[in-house]
Amino acid sequence: MRLRDAVTTLPAYVPGARLPAGLPAVKLSSNENPYPPLPSVVDAIVAGVGATNRYPDLAAVQLVEALAERLTAKAPRAVTPAEIVVGTGSVGVLEHLLDAVCDPGDEVLVPWRSFEAYPIAVAVAGARFVPVPLQEGHDADGRSLAGRLDLAALAAAIGERTRVVVVCTPNNPTGPAVHADELESFLAAVPPHVMVILDEAYVEFVRDPDAPDGLAVYAAHPNVVLLRTFSKAYGLAALRVGYAVARPDLAAGVRAVATPFGVGDLAQRAALASLAAEDELLERVETLVAERTRVTDALREQGWDLPDAQGNFVWFPLGARTAELGARARDEGVLVRPFAGEGVRVSIGSVAEDDAFLRVAAGWR
Ligand code: PMP
Repeated sequence: MRLRDAVTTLPAYVPGARLPAGLPAVKLSSNENPYPPLPSVVDAIVAGVGATNRYPDLAAVQLVEALAERLTAKAPRAVTPAEIVVGTGSVGVLEHLLDAVCDPGDEVLVPWRSFEAYPIAVAVAGARFVPVPLQEGHDADGRSLAGRLDLAALAAAIGERTRVVVVCTPNNPTGPAVHADELESFLAAVPPHVMVILDEAYVEFVRDPDAPDGLAVYAAHPNVVLLRTFSKAYGLAALRVGYAVARPDLAAGVRAVATPFGVGDLAQRAALASLAAEDELLERVETLVAERTRVTDALREQGWDLPDAQGNFVWFPLGARTAELGARARDEGVLVRPFAGEGVRVSIGSVAEDDAFLRVAAGWR
């Protein structure tokens, strides 16, 4: 069978490498939450196990309503259930967003390096992936611009065929969040028919005071879509639940192209229980943010020049030395995520896991 050209040329999605047999794994390669699910979340999952002969709720009504209520409490105006679409992780929702709006030959602009699923999802949607380089160097006040999105260049790259722009903030894998003022200037330059996806997978970890409030940006701009997930701050990566917040007409289009019954019943139950336990989960996030500060301080003390880290990970822009640090860490039992020729991303884990990596980093420089 002849495959579509877009499929034969897809870049591979590379998951974290495997450790050599026999070594204990410290897994800091997938930006996971090091905490296991809360007992209340486990109970909710177990409560559904006996009913797995039934299909899940197609519309995930309870979960969507709970999300609408939760988001409304944090937003400048009410977010209605009609504005929420859930899917199999935010990657699943992203694919359906692109499928819903892209015609063949449309362009999707993406600041790059960013999340590796983007070029795959764009190509499968039949669109053209247009990478826009990140910033480099330092600003007039001597602050590092490394790993920051270049929103001015992104605005300048918008053309006739541009249909979508993906803004990942904080950016995976480089770490900085966009700033509210630069995002507003950017959005002012975007034509209203161009969809701007703000991928906020790590939004709960952001502490940069200049970062935008995604819900306020969404409320002010009808072409903005928020993409969020239960995989990171809420620790449900294995269950695959993410969602988009979009105007009702777009949300309806995304539901129309989505795989039916994508979000399983156990996943819906776990996500609901996680929303009910949000305060406790956000306390864990606070601990992880403090741990991120400890790790980045320690690394800078070791002499590393690192970009601002606003997600649950740290980025080492190592260029040609990337493979070397990846291999060294692996030899010492620590899984990190090398991006060939670009840099190494290391997730924030437990204190013991992070200490294992800090020893690798100290020994290698
Ligand atoms: N967006 C970004 C920026 C990510 O880093 C990730 C996970 N690595 C996702 C989306 C996808 O998360 P999920 O599909 O698990 O919701």
